[in-house]
Amino acid sequence: MKLALINIKQLVTVASQRRRVKTGADMREIGMVENAAVLVEESVITWVGNMEQLSMSSLNEADVVDCTNNVVMPGFVDSHTHLVFAGSREEEFAMRSGGATYQQIAERGGGIINTVRNVRAASKKELMKKARRWLSAMLRHGTTVAEIKSGYGLDMDNEVKMLEAIVELAKEEMTTIVPTFLGAHAVPPEYKENKSGYVRLIIERMLPYIAPRKLAEFCDVFCERGYFDLQDTEEILTFAKQSGLALKVHAEELTPLGGAQLAAQLNAVSVDHLEHITDNGIQALADSQTVATLLPGVSFFLNHQYAPARALIEGGVPVAIATDFNPGSCMSYSMPLMMTIACTHMKMTPEEAITASTLNAAAALSRSQEYGSIEVGKKADMILLNIPNYKFLAYHFGENHVDRVIKHGVVLEF
Ligand SMILES: [Zn+2]
Repeated sequence: MKLALINIKQLVTVASQRRRVKTGADMREIGMVENAAVLVEESVITWVGNMEQLSMSSLNEADVVDCTNNVVMPGFVDSHTHLVFAGSREEEFAMRSGGATYQQIAERGGGIINTVRNVRAASKKELMKKARRWLSAMLRHGTTVAEIKSGYGLDMDNEVKMLEAIVELAKEEMTTIVPTFLGAHAVPPEYKENKSGYVRLIIERMLPYIAPRKLAEFCDVFCERGYFDLQDTEEILTFAKQSGLALKVHAEELTPLGGAQLAAQLNAVSVDHLEHITDNGIQALADSQTVATLLPGVSFFLNHQYAPARALIEGGVPVAIATDFNPGSCMSYSMPLMMTIACTHMKMTPEEAITASTLNAAAALSRSQEYGSIEVGKKADMILLNIPNYKFLAYHFGENHVDRVIKHGVVLEF
């Protein structure tokens, strides 16, 4: 099966010449080609260039898509989501809007534990049904690769139920799905007075079950005051690494605890949030291979401090952005909206926001050799946008500009 995209008004390749990530000024190099073409065979990109260099014989037997009115770019990689969940939390949103604090919301049974209650009560089938709806909506908005975390079960059976749902979705859905075990998302109510008992449960029962069955590729920990401290985080992640899982950390979201330094030290693939990262944390990341994944939608939705994107980029840290899509702190799966917030509130340029949502986001999942740019040899994940130029995408927010999505060489029409 051959596919040809021709007459592309603007092709944004984010070409990296096989480099894993882009850093510093290179994040602004998005490899834009005007009047371009892309050839695909089976699911892989075989040619990228200008229309003038395209030999017409290469169009023989190809499905030809005319992209005269389109900007074409790589599919979005959403490298941080909690999209398998049950219930919703608009009541908490309304309470917060009315001035209630987190503490008051928690006292009325809100927060992560609210979703945990709903997930424990739901069957695997129900979780999958709801997740499928999100995944197809995300695909319509241009997300072709998504990470999904567990972390609303917080006991053996329900964490495994969530991960089995994620792994089954990965097998049957178009979207490329990467599963992450986040048993250490919060301390469950039954371990409220015995956090170390819960850490032992994760290390002695959950990880030894999950790792050999390949129910997760990554292990993640919410490293935060009142959740899991540096010592808990190091203990869980060290054991996870020995069990063959790659590492992620939720760090420095509410307080500067030093989770960024720990992530660098443990060679985590990504460290996420970083709203309160210190200069030392930035230095530690710059000296490591760890990708900094920023979540603009969370700061926007909770009206919290934003992560220092400029200091990270200028410090040489590879920066990705993701949605953190979840019912509590960011009820949006729109990558373009995250780009808009990154540009307006974090002072990233539109070019940096594109690199952060594609190539660097793929690197945050160890997938940038296959995804995140439009280059020969990579998987043909591309989106066709109905906009006059690429800068228009983050500029005209609140509207879905995706015309068509190409996933592994297949043209999806909505
Ligand atoms: Zn998260």
